[in-house]
Amino acid sequence: MIIDINRISALLLNNEQPSNAIVEIILDKALKLKGLTLEDVAMLLNVRAPLREAILKTAGEVKQAVFGRRIVLFAPLYLSNECVNNCLYCGFRIENREAARKTLSVEEAVREAKTLEAKGYKRLLLVAAENPSKSNIDYILKVVEAIYRETDIRILHLNAAPMPVDDLKRLKVAGIGVLQVFQETYHPETYAMMHPSGRKKDYSYRLSAMDRAIDAGFDDLGIGALLGLYDWRFEVLATIAHARYLKERYGIWPHTISVPRLRPASGSLLKETPYPVSDEEFKLIVAIYRLAVPTAGVVVSTREGADLRREVLAVGASQISAGSKTEPGGYEADGEHYEAAQFATDDHRTLDEVIEDVAALGYMPSLCTSCYRAGRTGSDFHDMASSGNIKDYCSANAALTLKEYSIDAAGDSKEACEEAIERELGEIADEKLKAGATERLLRIEAGERDIYY
Ligand code: SF4
Repeated sequence: MIIDINRISALLLNNEQPSNAIVEIILDKALKLKGLTLEDVAMLLNVRAPLREAILKTAGEVKQAVFGRRIVLFAPLYLSNECVNNCLYCGFRIENREAARKTLSVEEAVREAKTLEAKGYKRLLLVAAENPSKSNIDYILKVVEAIYRETDIRILHLNAAPMPVDDLKRLKVAGIGVLQVFQETYHPETYAMMHPSGRKKDYSYRLSAMDRAIDAGFDDLGIGALLGLYDWRFEVLATIAHARYLKERYGIWPHTISVPRLRPASGSLLKETPYPVSDEEFKLIVAIYRLAVPTAGVVVSTREGADLRREVLAVGASQISAGSKTEPGGYEADGEHYEAAQFATDDHRTLDEVIEDVAALGYMPSLCTSCYRAGRTGSDFHDMASSGNIKDYCSANAALTLKEYSIDAAGDSKEACEEAIERELGEIADEKLKAGATERLLRIEAGERDIYY
């Protein structure tokens, strides 16, 4: 059984706030970077202010211990909005007759990637609606191969519909880094209601997507629940149960846990969020994911506004998208096309503005892609991260990639980039690594590119 719904429901029956002493024991355990049990998480879900502050603070410390100050930046590249499913909450659903439909040609997808490359992005998340006659496996493979061949984008991750093992094997060979499939809601009855027709109707096939990905050779996996469809406490427990299942069955923790919260979408049938999640609850969720699965990239997208995205950096978020467009062709067109988008974004800042802001807040903007390409994936990555040994790599690689950005693409953020690079070098504990990074920065200034640890 991938997740035990009865066990999760039973854990949620208790909504008593745990004592300070119990919370302290759980947080001490989290600081050892070994993760938390479902029982631990269930107790943290019941913690209210002011004790919540201790959870948020500890999550910030755990993030610092695992990844240091680096915040990874990326953009989604939407390939198609021609979906055969009818998810009530989504602008791409098949019965949304208002939507302006589009599947990018391979050439158009490459142009989108080139547009993003020119802005300084190095990692992209391809997003494809489910459609066997449009955005099928052959199409996705052609896009992946063309972007790698014709651009300097360094890693492509993929968020797509669940697939059979044979298709996933082809994606792995083509060089997809992280494979993401979000369950949307782990609550079966809500899932059935939200997905009334189409291939996505099958809860179990979606839930087993990660198992098939592992069979196909993927070891960097991305999971997540769309917050707002059902009780967030259930979704958080179920997401962590899914993570723990992957670890117990395959020895692999998820590489990322995304934290999408329901947003308005043109043509959505949900006019109101069924189970609203407040900003305070959202921060707690980010923090709990960080504590429970300390080595996962906790990902917060531009669904959230700039102020909240600033705050989640302090409580465990480690990856953020920036400058996102959620409609196919959105980067080249460079406008807001709400009627073609999957959902409305709330942070409209450019990558340059986000980089400047992240640096000013004392974090280290990073465009690094090195682990995927240096073979630090799956359990190897987890072992390095949980022993505190990845963060020096993150620091050095963040400095190297930010230097490239500063020279090649920075606008107003240039000064902030240079200051952040200096500051980050000072943080690298390993003297040999620091000297190496300093020497590599000079090589980048002299024109070399794509140097990494
Ligand atoms: S060194 Fe690895 S974990 Fe750190 S930012 Fe780069 S790719 Fe990510």
